Amino acid sequence: MTEIFNIERFATHDGPGIRTAVFFKGCGMHCPWCANPESWGIRPVLMHDAQKCSGCGQCAAVCPVHAIQVSEQWTEDPNLCTACHRCEESCLNDAISFAGESMTTEEIMQEVLKDLDYYQRSGGGLTVSGGEAFLQKDGLIELLELAHQNGLHTAVETAGFCSHEAFSETMPLIDLFLFDMKHADAEVLRTVTGADMKIINANLEILAQNCPERVIIRIPVIPGFNREHDIVLRILDKVKSYGFTRADLLPYHTLAKVKWNRMQREYPYGEDQPLQQEDLKQMMEYGIGIGLDVRIGG
Ligand code: SF4
Ligand code: SF4
Repeated sequence: MTEIFNIERFATHDGPGIRTAVFFKGCGMHCPWCANPESWGIRPVLMHDAQKCSGCGQCAAVCPVHAIQVSEQWTEDPNLCTACHRCEESCLNDAISFAGESMTTEEIMQEVLKDLDYYQRSGGGLTVSGGEAFLQKDGLIELLELAHQNGLHTAVETAGFCSHEAFSETMPLIDLFLFDMKHADAEVLRTVTGADMKIINANLEILAQNCPERVIIRIPVIPGFNREHDIVLRILDKVKSYGFTRADLLPYHTLAKVKWNRMQREYPYGEDQPLQQEDLKQMMEYGIGIGLDVRIGG
C-alpha cells in the first residue's frame, strides 16, 4: 500500500503534455512556504473548513478520543486523533475532510489510466509528486514499473532529501526528474527547511553523472529566503556546474494559505505578496547569460 493525499488529473505544470499527478505522503523537510503541508506526515491529516463550520459541536460529541474542542473556537489535537473519520461522517456542513489514504498500486494506476488518450495525444504521462516520493520507495518503484508497462512517460518531483539507495535504485524508471533546488547555503537550508544539503548534493551528483539530460531544475523563488542577496544566481551557477541545462524559476505564491489554515496552523508567509514574472526577469537573464535554458514558471 502507498499513502497518498491527492490525484490530480489534467495537470499541465508538472512535466510535458497533459499528465496525472499522484501526490505521495511523507516529507523530511518543513519549508515554511510549503504548498502541500498536508504531505509532511505519513498519516491522514484532518482539514477543517472554518467557513463552513457552524460550531454545532456534533463532531466533538462523536469523537471517541476527545480530540476536538468546540467551546470557544474549533480545535483538534492531531496527537490524539486516530483518523477514524467519525467526525467527518457526522458533520452535516461538510466542514471536515481528510488528506491522506492508503491505495494499492493497481488502484492508483486505474485512476491514472483514465486519461490515457490525453497522454498519447499530448505527449504527457504520469508525474509522481509529494511530499518526497522517494520516502515510499517500494510504492514508487511499483507505480513507475506499472506506468512503463502501460507505455506511460514518467516524471518525479523531488527535492532530493532522501537516501542515495532509493534514488539510485529508482533512477532507471524515471524519464524526467523535476528537481527542486532551494538554496545555495547549507546552513540556511538546514535552519529553515531541516534538510541536509550534503544528502541533496550527493543525489544531484548521481543525476549529473548518469542522466543530466533527464533533469529539469526548479527553483522556488521565496521572499526573505532566497530572493535576496543573489542567492538564486548562486543556485543557477551550481546548476551550470553540475552540467544540467534547464532551470525553471517558480514565483512565490500564497495559494497554500488556505491549507495551512485548515490544518489550524498559522501560515508563516502570510504577509508576503505573490511574486510576478517581472520580479524574476533579471534572474532569468542571468541564467540565460551563463548558457542555461531558464524559464519562469516552467
Ligand atoms: S460537526 Fe461540522 S459544523 Fe459542527 S462543529 Fe463540527 S465541523 Fe463544525
Ligand atoms: S477522526 Fe476520529 S479521532 Fe480524529 S478527530 Fe475525528 S472523530 Fe476524533
